[in-house]
Amino acid sequence: MPVVMRAPDDFHVHFRRPPLLDSIVADTARWFARALVMPNTVPPITTADRLTAYRREIEGAAGKDQSFEALLTFKVVPGLVPDEIRALAAAGAIGGKLYPQGVTTHSEDGIVDVEPLFAVFEVMEDLDLVLEIHAEAPGVFSLDREIAYLPSVERIVRRFPNLRIVIEHVSSRDMLTALADLPLRVAATVTVHHLLLTLDDVIGGDLRPHHFCKPVAKRPADRDALCAAVLSGDPRVFFGSDSAPHPRTAKESDCGCAGIYTAPVAIPLLAEFFERAGLPLTESSAPVRGACLESFVSRWGAEFYRLPLSERTITLCETEWVVPDDCGGIVPFRSGSQLRYDIAPGGKA
Ligand SMILES: [Zn+2]
Repeated sequence: MPVVMRAPDDFHVHFRRPPLLDSIVADTARWFARALVMPNTVPPITTADRLTAYRREIEGAAGKDQSFEALLTFKVVPGLVPDEIRALAAAGAIGGKLYPQGVTTHSEDGIVDVEPLFAVFEVMEDLDLVLEIHAEAPGVFSLDREIAYLPSVERIVRRFPNLRIVIEHVSSRDMLTALADLPLRVAATVTVHHLLLTLDDVIGGDLRPHHFCKPVAKRPADRDALCAAVLSGDPRVFFGSDSAPHPRTAKESDCGCAGIYTAPVAIPLLAEFFERAGLPLTESSAPVRGACLESFVSRWGAEFYRLPLSERTITLCETEWVVPDDCGGIVPFRSGSQLRYDIAPGGKA
């Protein structure tokens, strides 16, 4: 039976720049009504002019697909002046992304101490922009890096009582536990790969570079806590894929890049994930409000960002297909494996 559901939103995606951009945008636009695009391009999105130019590039790549909307962010960097932040907001930015120094791709210029950014946060709070945080403390052992960043998050939360904050791609049980004690204006995104992988899927047997991401997949107990949070229907835990394409050669390398390309497979994998847990895909068939795929991918994030829910729909049909080995030079997550759901021909309605 085909399943009709509200078209999903992806609240954390990496699109890169041309010439990679076209096929990457198409892979997201096929499934998602909207996507929150991360600003760690080269050069980073730190001015309204760059943001506007990047939006044009993305719209150009989306081409005729008018059913897709890019939601834009800027990179929070020291010295970002209030006028520029206001210009970024006027140009359509809905959030600013904080990268601690050196924790992920193109974050060499990131932040060590949060205090010098308080002036930026103050303007963001005034403008009701959302602060997205890559919560990993530089220099800490990789499995402990996320929870080690909690004191920095708490400082920002305490100092800015009206600032909405998203802890991006939460990956540990400890951070989820901490989230429960933070105010409701703090939420978290969860990726599909952190629901499916542990560190053993990266290094437990042969080295699997296409399972390598930041924050790195952790212990089974961490993965299980993430699964439980998502399946409980918690509105503060919503979908952000962190789909992060790198060319195959940049992944299969002595110094391989972090990032997993999930855009082409995220929704089919999540549909199977909810079904395995015995939960429905759509809100209309959910016995517990919100404990279904549709709320996780199409409601909670939009509500947190105070955006109208998408009025588009997608139809999932049970059509087995094999994930290709290559999507425009990029190896997608679960390449070569068989998936049970696909989007119905014609795409979004
Ligand atoms: Zn990311």
